[in-house]
Amino acid sequence: MNYLNFHAHQPEISPDMTAVVCFEPSGPLPATPPGQFTACGIHPWSLSKLSAGEIEQCLSVLAEYAGSGLLCAIGETGLDRLNGPELDLQTDIFRRHIELADKYSLPLIIHCVRCYPELLQIKKLSGSAVPWMIHGFNSNVRQLEQLLSHGCFISFGPPAMRGRNVKESLLKAVPLERLCLETDDSPDDIKSIYGTAAAILKIDEAALLEIMNHNFESIFRKTNDR
Ligand SMILES: [Zn+2]
Repeated sequence: MNYLNFHAHQPEISPDMTAVVCFEPSGPLPATPPGQFTACGIHPWSLSKLSAGEIEQCLSVLAEYAGSGLLCAIGETGLDRLNGPELDLQTDIFRRHIELADKYSLPLIIHCVRCYPELLQIKKLSGSAVPWMIHGFNSNVRQLEQLLSHGCFISFGPPAMRGRNVKESLLKAVPLERLCLETDDSPDDIKSIYGTAAAILKIDEAALLEIMNHNFESIFRKTNDR
């Protein structure tokens, strides 16, 4: 069973590790090594660097990739109150990602900073039926419970692992069948993240590996069907 990295920006090189690698639709999709998976989306931070025309161009490239069967997910995409352009633009572009994800039955990998109520409102209004994975979750238990009650998967990366008791309680508050683990853009090894998570959750690493493989299947099922 492989160590699954639910959100990364670089492919894993070891044959016992598998990553979902996120790219932006600003150019040709880089080739990912066999056994790795590709996701694509416009990061909310990138919107500040693009003109309206360039954003439309990126969205049409993204639609082409999504329709071509090359992707296992749409993302990362989302909302960020601290970085990126005004929230109206971010919201508009996020909604376009959701439409594509639903059109092609692809899960969403979501970046969200201090916009959880807005995010959940959009989720409700969209009626989106695909899995939503909130990556790099690092907020509080109240937000976490809201996301869980709306069916979201929650992914933790190195910042949550390095935390003190508060962060540990976040990890413990996620039902195992909704938990995901990731490196994001850190140089940390996904195996070390599994080790830390297993220690916090007081479960066997082999059992954690099995749970993560099950969750990966639940989120990225369509990819595995191909
Ligand atoms: Zn990322």
